[in-house]
Amino acid sequence: MSKVLVIGAGGVSSVCVHKMAFNPDIFSEIHLASRTLAKCDAIAESVKARCGVDVATYAIDAEDVPALSALIERIGPKLVVNLALPYQDLTIMEACLNTGVPYLDTANYEPKDVAKFEYSWQWNLHDRFKERGIMALLGSGFDPGVTSVFAMWLKKHKLKTIRSLDILDCNGGDHGQAFATNFNPEINIREVTANARHWENGQFVETPPLSKKVAFDFDAVGPKNMYMMYHEELESLAKFIPELERGRFWMTFGDAYINHLTVLKNVGMIGIEPIEYQGQQIVPLQFLAAVLPKPETLGPTTKGKTNIGDIATGEALDGSGDKTFYIYQICDHEEAYAETGNQAISYTTGVPAMIGAAMMLTGAWTGEGVFNMEQMDPDPFMDMLNKHGLPWQVKELSGPVDF
Ligand code: NDP
Repeated sequence: MSKVLVIGAGGVSSVCVHKMAFNPDIFSEIHLASRTLAKCDAIAESVKARCGVDVATYAIDAEDVPALSALIERIGPKLVVNLALPYQDLTIMEACLNTGVPYLDTANYEPKDVAKFEYSWQWNLHDRFKERGIMALLGSGFDPGVTSVFAMWLKKHKLKTIRSLDILDCNGGDHGQAFATNFNPEINIREVTANARHWENGQFVETPPLSKKVAFDFDAVGPKNMYMMYHEELESLAKFIPELERGRFWMTFGDAYINHLTVLKNVGMIGIEPIEYQGQQIVPLQFLAAVLPKPETLGPTTKGKTNIGDIATGEALDGSGDKTFYIYQICDHEEAYAETGNQAISYTTGVPAMIGAAMMLTGAWTGEGVFNMEQMDPDPFMDMLNKHGLPWQVKELSGPVDF
């Protein structure tokens, strides 16, 4: 029985808060704070209508450390779940250090003025969390999050070593819009237009954005083009799977998405440097995000499935030589929407955030300091995925990937 404070009130938060409310034996009291109170209230109303649970709501600027620390102090939660944007990670971690409350997030810190994300800023807080005697769990979404837990489950149950790992993220959903991103547009476009990086023989190799494309036939979705990208879990996987020789991340994009993005890039609409417009400073990417469909509005029209998983090759645990396993999860947009009022991208992130929080609050996962998902026992997390809407499957492939 634990009191929890969730920060941020977007699509991921909405799913996570609903899922917490559906599990009152673990989350006995839910508090929700974000920049816009009305968004917190809308989530609270939906939760009340769906399961009768009350959620207390607050307006907060999560970049105002004293105000946030005071709010945490006043509420007295056992855990702060950060589902705002990566820009707020460090200020929320500071407030947790001030108040001695454990911390969880789903995306690593990214400075607003440089399109760059990496764990160093948060890993640097390890000693301070350790001295404070509290745990911070980083990246408890799907990717990062479940994709790392999948890899560690394979390492625990199937493979003694993982020499090659490919993470395949397929969104086979169609929202009926000409162009929209399925999570925060600003974060999504910064991620997709960054240089690709993959891990190879002890170092990251950088290639131009979206320059490597492979067709892959996804179970329950069908054939899709996927593009190699950089994704943050490659950094933690390379650290915690020291024998990893090659680690790559792939994401599917339709031709229409790529065409729109190319045009927007060519006309300067995805720039992050402020420009002067009619006497005001505006950031083109932020303006673009403001005119694009809000990801949380895509739910009612999105049909189709997501399929996200890992293909890993290494030495089998049973001594039978090299083996390749594919472990993945399929999520249906319409079923996700029916359950919490959000599409599958928010659902596949919000559910693992709830499960990570449950791991910490029930004591299944403990520690003092800053931790990644790879450092935790995958089994209780994997059990909860099956029970809370994200069932997974694993199959042996005939050999390593040929791309
Ligand atoms: P949204 O943009 O829908 O929601 C973000 C929320 O954070 C909004 O409610 C926003 O407030 C709030 N917020 C922004 N700035 C502040 C601030 N200074 N103080 C308080 N609240 C603030 O994003 P999503 O729900 O799509 O994503 C949430 C997080 O999940 C992001 O960090 C994203 O990167 C991560 N993510 C992780 C994935 C994974 O698999 N690991 C996949 C998808 C997303 P307002 O409503 O006022 O704008």
